Amino acid sequence: MISYTEQGLMNTAGIFGHSRQLKSLNSLIEKKMIPSSLLFTGASGIGKKTIAKRVIASLFCAESNSPCLDCSNCSRVYSGTFPDLIELEKDDKGKIPVGDRNKPEYGSVRWLIEKLNNSSVSGRYGVIIDGVDTISESGQNALLKTIEEPPMGTCIILIGESKSRVLHTILSRSLHLNFNPLSNDDVKEILKEQDKDGQYKELVMLISGGSVETAMKLMDETVLNSVIEYASWISAAVQSGGELSGDLPDLPKSLSNDFLLAVLMEFYLIMLSGKILSGNEIPKSLLIKDKTAVKKIIKILLAMRSGLDNNMNFKSMIKGLLYSCDQFDLSGFSKPDFTWIK
Ligand SMILES: [Zn+2]
Repeated sequence: MISYTEQGLMNTAGIFGHSRQLKSLNSLIEKKMIPSSLLFTGASGIGKKTIAKRVIASLFCAESNSPCLDCSNCSRVYSGTFPDLIELEKDDKGKIPVGDRNKPEYGSVRWLIEKLNNSSVSGRYGVIIDGVDTISESGQNALLKTIEEPPMGTCIILIGESKSRVLHTILSRSLHLNFNPLSNDDVKEILKEQDKDGQYKELVMLISGGSVETAMKLMDETVLNSVIEYASWISAAVQSGGELSGDLPDLPKSLSNDFLLAVLMEFYLIMLSGKILSGNEIPKSLLIKDKTAVKKIIKILLAMRSGLDNNMNFKSMIKGLLYSCDQFDLSGFSKPDFTWIK
């Protein structure tokens, strides 16, 4: 347990949603009972790390209204330069490396363990491991001892998308909080706060699936235009009975197949639910009134999802499926469940 001597409740200014989780954290802070290991799970881009930073800042803030987000300690926590804040992040391969046993590289699990053996400047460490569920089993096992017996006063916040890839031994020693996607209104508020303005804000909010990360990406005009271009092309092709008009643009490099597919899926599911009603909310070229056509597109996207990896050519796959979607038998795919489509 960490003892909070002067710390007050967590400053939640600028944090949207997650009221239940914030309430739990605040009550732990208030009772001075925050555990040395916390696990935050939930989809990416919904604010887990922001909240983790806030908890860590409250450990080091020099002011009474902690974290004030203003004092030099808070600023250094936020800029990542506070000496006793240690952050692990995923590398280029999307994983946090375990690190060499004898000479662990910077940012690896073993590097962290070594670092925690040295004494801190302020008397305690704050640790954020963003992507604990990407650490291999042996890496998580190496981490376990630190989680069981952390240096005095240390607070370790583990962040991951799902608890299913976290060793149960780590899980059982951590306080687990799961975070849900944000509501559309929360995403809208955040975009407003960030002073992000752009065309089709309504559309961005609808298809971001409660992820601020996705919404921010879509506020980039090039990205949004590509998504719109793809969706218009698909909408037109399906409505014209598979006739392909013009060629599809290449995807910008910043846009992955996974991202495009997830956003398109979200878009057509919303269209099916009837939440998109007019061409004021979205470009007219995307609007499909015929629900059978929308279902057909969703079927194609589901089929793509089961066969998709990032080496695959999105353009040729979607063309192939458009040609064959009337005949294709979904039993060849991993049996998607259509019961939720009304
Ligand atoms: Zn402060």
